[in-house]
Amino acid sequence: ATFGNLSARLTDTFKNLRAKGKLSAADVDGTVREIRRALLEADVALEVVKEFTAKVRERALGDEVNRALNPAQQVVQIVNEELVGILGGEQRRLRFAKNPPTVIMLAGLQGAGKTTLAGKLAKWLRDQGHTPLLVACDLQRPNAVTQLKVVGEQAGAAVFAPHPGNTGAGEDATSGDPVRVAKDGIAEARAKQHDFVIVDTAGRLGVDAELMRQAGDIRRAIDPDEVLFVIDAMIGQDAVATARAFQESVDFTGVVLTKLDGDARGGAALSIRSLTGRPILFASTGEGLGDFEPFHPDRMASRILDLGDILTLIEQAQHAFDEEEARKAAEKLASDQFTLDDFLKQMQQLRGAGSIKKMMGMLPGMGKMKDQLENFDEREIVHTEAIIQSMTPAERGNPKILNGSRRLRIAKGSGMTVTDVNSLVSRFEQAAKMMKTVARGGVPQIPGMGPV
Ligand code: GDP
Repeated sequence: ATFGNLSARLTDTFKNLRAKGKLSAADVDGTVREIRRALLEADVALEVVKEFTAKVRERALGDEVNRALNPAQQVVQIVNEELVGILGGEQRRLRFAKNPPTVIMLAGLQGAGKTTLAGKLAKWLRDQGHTPLLVACDLQRPNAVTQLKVVGEQAGAAVFAPHPGNTGAGEDATSGDPVRVAKDGIAEARAKQHDFVIVDTAGRLGVDAELMRQAGDIRRAIDPDEVLFVIDAMIGQDAVATARAFQESVDFTGVVLTKLDGDARGGAALSIRSLTGRPILFASTGEGLGDFEPFHPDRMASRILDLGDILTLIEQAQHAFDEEEARKAAEKLASDQFTLDDFLKQMQQLRGAGSIKKMMGMLPGMGKMKDQLENFDEREIVHTEAIIQSMTPAERGNPKILNGSRRLRIAKGSGMTVTDVNSLVSRFEQAAKMMKTVARGGVPQIPGMGPV
């Protein structure tokens, strides 16, 4: 896979750290050097690598203390967070125009995957009930218009293409005027009430002044809501120059990475956001129209950091709790003293350990667990706190006395519903059961996360 090598390199680096109880400055420096080498080998742009490693180093040496994680895990967590950062942080969604149609223009080198992307976007929009119109402004490449018609048909979307007569180009469409075709296409979308227009433009094999000028002309003529720069993740270091050239001449509002299914080193994917300041909106992962998804920086980072080794994961999950507290809790449980206060403390610890999702993002391979985490809402911890804090000490110590009227009072006091209170109590009971397993020396589950 695209990041296979990078993943392997980073995993090795982290493995070397795992045995250490404490990290010296020399350990951190060594790790940072290895991360730097791994990123450079993956073709990540030098300036991006420098900034990235400087941040990781500073944070790893800093006094950012996280008692729930061991030193190696802390480094992984920092690297994960910084990776999410260079990939853009939050997901950036497609912008919709206030007054339809929303106009999306595609730009990029020939072969980047623009025409294919036009079909993918059209299908994706159609699946959400939109009515996109594809406009064929790639009048350079022989067959581009035909190819767009084919993908349009596959996606079930209409295609606007110049035909002899309306371009003044005669039989040979490739000599038509792409600016005019773009404008006519948008007029057509208005007339036929399409709510999206996807404008496919011409690319060349290399950056070239004429191509840039044409794309710039189209952009000025149609003033799109989004200009998506389509870039092949396999092009390696050339990505920098290409992205810069497009940014200067056409500029763009977002990036689409294609061919992430390939075997290339994928440095473009990791460099582009930092180099251009533009967010990555979508990722293409194959030739089929369905091989396409909105881009999530956090998911990509966890994919890259896949540590693979399941045993490691369990080991890490076991250490995710503050061991001291866990031991106390287990002791209490053994003597049947595990209370709602302890439960709350454990949940708060989880939050103290940073975002649960982020933490679990470090434990790939946890499949089922991860799916659940996708649905896990950290607000739940806040709600749990509110409910438990509305209980009397007696109730916290012995939840068995929570009858109907007490539950109603607690619900009112915490601003939650009785159903919420009931669900918390049953989750507590489950957690108590899990704690019993721990006390008997089993593998702990994380309490408070709902039924497994
Ligand atoms: P354009 O010149 O920018 O319009 O590029 P095309 O859409 O014609 O794509 C060029 C080639 O790349 C075609 O053979 C596509 O099937 C292929 N392609 C496009 N996107 C992907 C992708 O995400 N993965 C793979 N493996 N191939 C892709």
